[in-house]
Amino acid sequence: MAEDNKKSEPRRRGWSIADFEIGKPLGRGKFGRVYVAREVKSKYIVALKVIFKEQIDKYNIHHQLKREMDIQTSLSHPNILRLYGWFHDDQRVFMILEYAHGGELFKELRKCGYLSEQKAATYVASLANALAYCHEKDVIHRDIKPENLLLDHEGRLKIADFGWSVQSRSKRHTMCGTLDYLAPEMVENKAHDYAVDNWTLGILCYEFLYGAPPFEAESQRDTFRRIVKVDLTFPSTPPVSAEAKNLITRLLVKDSSKRLSLQKILEHPWIIKNANPMGTCDN
Ligand code: AMP
Repeated sequence: MAEDNKKSEPRRRGWSIADFEIGKPLGRGKFGRVYVAREVKSKYIVALKVIFKEQIDKYNIHHQLKREMDIQTSLSHPNILRLYGWFHDDQRVFMILEYAHGGELFKELRKCGYLSEQKAATYVASLANALAYCHEKDVIHRDIKPENLLLDHEGRLKIADFGWSVQSRSKRHTMCGTLDYLAPEMVENKAHDYAVDNWTLGILCYEFLYGAPPFEAESQRDTFRRIVKVDLTFPSTPPVSAEAKNLITRLLVKDSSKRLSLQKILEHPWIIKNANPMGTCDN
């Protein structure tokens, strides 16, 4: 929408809430609500994320939000949720986002229990493609987990929520992300780089195929311990092919420099055999 507008007639003023008809709520995040909305002039459907400035002040997230918006605006890839623009009024900040009609991948996964090898491979390939694009632009996402993965109307995966991502060439030291998806170097609070995303791909691939992440445990301490030891086991059900297990084993490697590269993931026999090159999946 924003792009089409840019091409035909440059916007002389910014967006405002009067440009949108607000529809049903789509969900609720840590800092705001998301609604489906229609831009009045073009009738283009978008998702409008509303964040109250009071919340931004309370949690001191000015920088994080600004970073999320700057990064997401600069990225344009079929597997990354577009941020078309943003505006604000006295009380709220509004993000104009691409609408992901299929909702959260997490919900699909919980509903089905686990995914078929074709679906799992298609999502892993989509993620590898999107991450390769991000890495080229020096962006590490660091918070890739099923809740941050949305699906469009064709079942195409979209990475959302760049709140935790960083744009940097140097190795990072800050601790962040969600427990089960953390790479050993993050758990141990060591310097980390792009290879953390490759680890996360291994975790997600496992979770897609088995329905739960590999290092799940009763307590946080036990999860940490299992991650650091790379205590990886494959249950006998559901049945999963040896090629899929091979890919997971080659991603969940403690030495980050020995993890399979994103390019090698895309060339892996399991991906070649199972992934839909169009990136779409029937729901
Ligand atoms: P968030 O504040 O980004 O965590 O979003 C809260 C919830 O709103 C998500 O978990 C999704 O279910 C939904 N949601 C967020 N963005 C979109 C979008 N662009 N399209 C469809 N649903 C969305």
